[in-house]
Order: sequence, then C-alpha cells, then structure tokens
Amino acid sequence: MRVFLGLGTNLGERLKNLKKALTKLRERGVIVQSVSSVYETQPIGACSPQPLFLNAVVEVFWSGDLIQLLEVTEAVEKEMGRTEKGSGGPRTIDIDILWAQGVRYQSLRLIVPHPRLWQRAFVLVPLSELVSHIDGREVRAVADALVADQGVKVYAKDWWSGGDSGGSSSASV
Ligand code: ADP
Ligand code: MG
Repeated sequence: MRVFLGLGTNLGERLKNLKKALTKLRERGVIVQSVSSVYETQPIGACSPQPLFLNAVVEVFWSGDLIQLLEVTEAVEKEMGRTEKGSGGPRTIDIDILWAQGVRYQSLRLIVPHPRLWQRAFVLVPLSELVSHIDGREVRAVADALVADQGVKVYAKDWWSGGDSGGSSSASV
C-alpha cells in the first residue's frame, strides 16, 4: 500500500534524526519511494515556546496493514528516545501516518487520513512536492492558504541518499 508519512523533530541533531528515522523504518520493511525537502517550521499548538521543528514528508510502500505500520512507527519513535505521546511538546522524532491509498481507518489509536492533515502547512508544503492532488483536493493551494500564518522555510534539499528508489510520484492520488 502506498502511504505518506510525516516526520518532525525539534530536539538534538534534527537533520540526523530525520535520516536515522528513515533508516530505522527501512530496517523494518518500510520501502522509501520518495522524500520531500526538509523544512524548518514554527511549532504549532499547546506547548510553546519550544525549538523550531524540521519537517519532511516521505512516500513509502508498506506491505502490511495500517496498525502494523503504526507499530513500526511507534517502535522507531521509542528507539529514538521519544517518551511522551500526545503532549504537543518537544520531540526527537514524531512520525505520523498522513494518508494511505484507498484506505480510510478510524480507531482509538489511529485515524487515517490524519485528522489535521489539511490544517498544517508543515505537512502540506512538503507533501505538495510529492503529490499534486489528494482525494480531489489540490495540496499546494491549501498549503498556500496556510503558509502566511505558519512559518515554513526550506532547510535542506537532497538530504536523503539512502534509497530504496529515486523515483518520483505520479501527479494525483
Ligand atoms: P501529534 O503527532 O499530533 O503531535 P502524537 O504523535 O503525540 O501527536 O500522537 C498522539 C496519538 O495520535 C498517538 O498516540 C497515536 O495513537 C494517535 N494517532 C491517531 N492517528 C494517527 C496517525 N494518523 N498517525 C500517527 N498517530 C496517530
Ligand atoms: Mg505523532
């Protein structure tokens, strides 16, 4: 199944954290198809002030189900020292399941598409590099409407060379 994951970090060596998270996801069978640029972004939500985030979105292929993928992402978060969940506070790595092709899912543990997908410039700006439309909505247009209020700037391009594939995505999903 084709999936978009959102990665965020605002503690420690942030760019290294993103790379390490991708390496660890791959070790657990997540196939990385394409990665966005890395953006530096303003923290949003309850727990401010806190350090600026680095965010990126990656397109992956996953052969299991979504709960198995959540277990993988949570294991990687834990291994990388993340302790608190749901606090909105600083974190070494946060991995969110943003969207999965052909799947809508809702339980106490997991909601896909991610419930705040369309409200977050730090997700939509990197996502718009990988896909033009999702579920009939133009990602870039929604992102553009949000960036004025939510600081998001390019921090690094071509930051990932660990493969599985250099291929880019199709235009719409
Ligand atoms: P946030 O990502 O909003 O900052 P957390 O990472 O702390 O918050 O996650 C809070 C909870 O959200 C997790 O315990 C997880 O079970 C739940 N959750 C619900 N939907 C998703 C999703 N699509 N991706 C990741 N976590 C999710
Ligand atoms: Mg999360």
